[in-house]
Amino acid sequence: MIWVDLHLHSTCSDGTVKPSDLPKLGRRLGLSVMALTDHDTTDGNEEFLRSCRRHRVKGIPGVEVSAEAPYTLHVLGYRVSSGGPLEEALAWVREGREERNHRICSKLSALGVPVSMEEARSEAGSDLVGRPHIARVLVRKGYASDPMDAFNRFLGRGAPAYVSRRRLSPGDAIDLIRQSGGLAVMAHPLQTGLGWDDLYRLVVEMRSMGLWGVECFHSSASREDSLRLFQMCAELSLVPTGGSDFHGENKPWVSMGVPVEPTWIPWARLGVDL
Ligand code: AMP
Ligand code: ZN
Ligand code: FE
Ligand code: FE
Repeated sequence: MIWVDLHLHSTCSDGTVKPSDLPKLGRRLGLSVMALTDHDTTDGNEEFLRSCRRHRVKGIPGVEVSAEAPYTLHVLGYRVSSGGPLEEALAWVREGREERNHRICSKLSALGVPVSMEEARSEAGSDLVGRPHIARVLVRKGYASDPMDAFNRFLGRGAPAYVSRRRLSPGDAIDLIRQSGGLAVMAHPLQTGLGWDDLYRLVVEMRSMGLWGVECFHSSASREDSLRLFQMCAELSLVPTGGSDFHGENKPWVSMGVPVEPTWIPWARLGVDL
C-alpha cells in the first residue's frame, strides 16, 4: 500500500492551508501523490505543483465542481489545462457565488444574525467566498456555537438562509473537464445520499457521459462502503481513486491521506511517474 491524497482544499477555496504548504504536510505524513482540488478554481495549482517538486511529492493539478442535481453531486477534474473551456465555465460559476453570497447575507440580516460581505471576504482571505467562511463569521460573532451549528441552523440545504447557486449540469461538468484535457472523477459518491441501486444507475449514466473514475476511498466513507464502491468500479471498468477532502481547520476532523494499492490507479494517465 502507498498513501496518497487526491482530494485536497487550500486557502484558494475553503481550506485553511496554503497551496504551497500542503506538500510539506503531505510529505511529513509519507504521502507519495497529492492532488489539489479546490472548489471552482484552479488558482492554487501552479504554486501547489512548485511546492510538490520542492518537497519531492508527486503533484497533480485538479479542481472540484458541484454539479446541478437534487442531491450533493461533485465532480473532480484532474490534469485540466488552464485556459481551456473549463476556465470560462468556472468564471461563470464563481460569478454566481458572488450573487449567492449577497443573497445569503441579506437573509442572515433578516434573521437577525447580520454578516456583511466584507466580513465574509476577509474571513476567506481570497476571492472565493464559500459558506464555510460565512459559517466562521457566524461563529466568531457568537451567532452559532461552531460551523456545524451554523450550517444546521442557517446555511445548510433546507435551513432558512440557504441559497442555491449556479452549477454546471453533470454532463457539462464532465464534458468541460475532458475538453480541457482532464479526467473526470465522481467525488464522495455516498454524499449523494442515494441508495446503492440508484447510485449504480447514476454512475452508469455518468460513465456514458465520459466519467473516468469514482472516489472510492474518502474520509467520510466506511470500509464496507469503500469496498462496495471499489467493486462497482471493477464491474464498470472505472478507475477507483481516493482522497481525504482535507480542509485544514475548516474540517478539523479530517486528516490527510488514504491508503491505496499502487496498481489500482493508472498513474501515467494522471501525469504521475511513480
Ligand atoms: P459552498 O461551496 O459555498 O456551497 O460550500 C460548500 C462547503 O461547505 C463544502 O466544503 C462542504 O463540505 C461544506 N458544508 C456543506 N454542508 C455542511 C455542513 N452541514 N456542515 C459543515 N460543512 C458543510
Ligand atoms: Zn470545501
Ligand atoms: Fe465535495
Ligand atoms: Fe472537496
